[in-house]
Amino acid sequence: MVTGTSLSSVFPLGSRLNERGRLEVGGCDMIELAREYGTPAYVVAEDDLRTRARAFVQAGRDAGHGDFHVVFASKAFPCTAVLELFAQEGLWCDVASGGELYLALNAGFPAERIVLHGNAKSEAELRMALRLRVGLIAVDNFDEIERLARLTGADAGELQESGGPAKAQPVLIRVTPDVKGETHEKISTGQADSKFGFAMADAREAIARVQQVEGLSLQGLHAHIGSQLLELEPFRRAATQLAELGEFPVLDLGGGLGVQYTSEQPAPPSTEEYVSAIVQATAAHRTHPGRLMIEPGRALSANACVTLYTVESVKSNVSCWVAVDGGMSDNLRPMLYGAPYEAHVADRFDGTTSCVLAGKHCESGDVIVAEALLEDPRPGDVIVTPATGAYGYSMASNYNGVPRAPVIFCRDGDARVVVRRESFEDLNARDVV
Ligand SMILES: *Cc1c(COP(=O)(O)O)cnc(C)c1O
Repeated sequence: MVTGTSLSSVFPLGSRLNERGRLEVGGCDMIELAREYGTPAYVVAEDDLRTRARAFVQAGRDAGHGDFHVVFASKAFPCTAVLELFAQEGLWCDVASGGELYLALNAGFPAERIVLHGNAKSEAELRMALRLRVGLIAVDNFDEIERLARLTGADAGELQESGGPAKAQPVLIRVTPDVKGETHEKISTGQADSKFGFAMADAREAIARVQQVEGLSLQGLHAHIGSQLLELEPFRRAATQLAELGEFPVLDLGGGLGVQYTSEQPAPPSTEEYVSAIVQATAAHRTHPGRLMIEPGRALSANACVTLYTVESVKSNVSCWVAVDGGMSDNLRPMLYGAPYEAHVADRFDGTTSCVLAGKHCESGDVIVAEALLEDPRPGDVIVTPATGAYGYSMASNYNGVPRAPVIFCRDGDARVVVRRESFEDLNARDVV
């Protein structure tokens, strides 16, 4: 591979192999970074996150929609520095729990730019959202409507005393438009038999019921049909289905745009293609453009990040096993969905030896990359897996007592730790014995 050139689009924007043949992300040498901060580590190219956020916003403008909003699905990478950056870029934030709501507020998202989701919102979570008067609550089921009716009705006085809404709370109704995206079953949410949202058959009744509740102001409809979708057609079908329920001021088509995890995978539609398809598909059914929202998670953060590991051992039996100092505790996706990744030695990119890149955890299934092409991997080598900026940090665990990895932002050659590595003391910090 030619050095000094940019790498495949799986890597953060601006990544390259420097004059020493080493991977550079955000202008920082990954071998030096690994030495200074240790591994495993999530390394984020700060400019990449900004560029992607701006591209989504700009794509709405270019598609000619004047009231288009990009909502970051915070569960993809709920670290304060990431949330802060997206808040600065003017995005909205999608949260699905009280904890995510807390993190979003704390990172600087004003309550009016927050959408609360969830199929099992607790009363405490709803009270918190109402008290703050978040921008939108996406109502998921009939029990939730009754709970909200009670909280904004009989209990409204108490809410107002605590600074809650004097005005009605804006809500969306989450609909399951029976559109199946071509994706893994565990991240498919749009089919009729889903735990999320109202079936099409129940949506009209839900709309009517919400409209009766004085404390709620029905703004529109929401649908999130699944994740890691590489086709635009399911989004178009979802827009068509939602249109059957009538025209509302707000339409939120959820997230789900897929990303490339390995350079062998087909490229997803571009941000521009995706946004313009959604703008056109919704406009086709509307007399007024209204407000249009999308909720990308993965597409905003996955490719902005790489994970660094250090090789601990190399052994050969039937396969060549390269074991590193992380694994399912920092990236659960391979185990959870069989998600593919690629891996490289951070200073030798021309790998041809097929190895199993294994994690350090006590599970045979703790394999990060089943067929990694590595060049002469040796203990002490720094290994890099790109595209780890979505659902890695958020699904991290302390399995096997492994402290969770730090998050390091890199920009113009400067690195700053935005989440420190957990310590052993953190592991029992909550014990009360
Ligand atoms: C998970 C989720 C998203 C983001 O999905 P991505 O595939 O990461 O874009 C958006 N909206 C809702 C309601 C979600 O549950």
